[in-house]
Amino acid sequence: MAHLLGMPPAHLKERITSWGFPAYRARQVRQWLYRGGPTTIDEWRNVPRALRERLGEELSLGARPPESVVESSDGTRKYLFPVGTSRAVEAAVIPDGDRTTLCLSSQVGCARGCRFCRTGMQGLHGNLDAADIINQFHSLPERETITNIVFMGMGEPLDNLRNVLAAIDTLTAQDAYGLGKRRITLSTIGIHPALATFLDRSEVHLAISVHSPFSEERADLVPAETGNPLQETVDLLRGRREDRRRRITFEYTLLKGVNDTERHARELVRIAGGLSIRVNLIAYHAVPGAPFAATPPERIVTFQQSLVAAGLKAFVRQSRGEDISAACGMLATSYESTERGRESR
Ligand code: SF4
Repeated sequence: MAHLLGMPPAHLKERITSWGFPAYRARQVRQWLYRGGPTTIDEWRNVPRALRERLGEELSLGARPPESVVESSDGTRKYLFPVGTSRAVEAAVIPDGDRTTLCLSSQVGCARGCRFCRTGMQGLHGNLDAADIINQFHSLPERETITNIVFMGMGEPLDNLRNVLAAIDTLTAQDAYGLGKRRITLSTIGIHPALATFLDRSEVHLAISVHSPFSEERADLVPAETGNPLQETVDLLRGRREDRRRRITFEYTLLKGVNDTERHARELVRIAGGLSIRVNLIAYHAVPGAPFAATPPERIVTFQQSLVAAGLKAFVRQSRGEDISAACGMLATSYESTERGRESR
């Protein structure tokens, strides 16, 4: 059954008029859906009973509350949202001063197999539809406090671009949640040609997961480098000088002795040349089963100083939620193990 949450306005209007109701009823339905108020279709008072019944028969709302939440000592909260009958995805709420960022998942697992990533170790179990993506915001208890959204949870958003774009459209539409486009960031390892489609189609900010500026070494960490070289990603971005209002960030997770040397810093500066970007340096969260260790904090600072001395804007990002398995995919993986355990009993 199709979901109402995230359904493009034109599709909703088409459905409603095809049932013999006037087009303006679609506007009313969207108001009930996105502007708060009753959470069951039955309670949408200004929608005629016949339409409510038809909506209830043909479509489901698509809203599902989180199954669980864990809170870190630093205030980060991680929610597990159910998907289908036995899977779940994570959404993290990260308070930071006057900002509260929601980190959303776009897929159940991920096919891209990055070696430092727990989600990558799970493999791909499916794409989230637009409703499942939006639901991580819609059904969040502290939804009203969210100031920023990042697509940085489980999954590669560009591998599920159609649903991710539909979710972004709903999050930003004035007659839906009305969030500012510049409050949303999509994070990707840079999949071509989906990246070009995304740049044409959406104005939200972009974060590229770099992790090494050397193609061969990056391919070892991010296998999708083969077929989607970082150099081509950079060339694509460089060719879009009109895109000045979009913030572009390079995300760089520092792995001890792997990608944190002066050689890496120099090459990162070279590859970023001519781009107006900033670099976020991220301390690595240890992931069970991954053969990496975190770069010591003093080495991270030295790496940052090398970038800054060469003219790049570089920031060190603090790790958040370390005590609640905050590396992407870890909670959902333990959920999955529990569910499988239950099924096999
Ligand atoms: S880092 Fe992102 S793209 Fe790579 S495996 Fe993890 S979720 Fe997928």
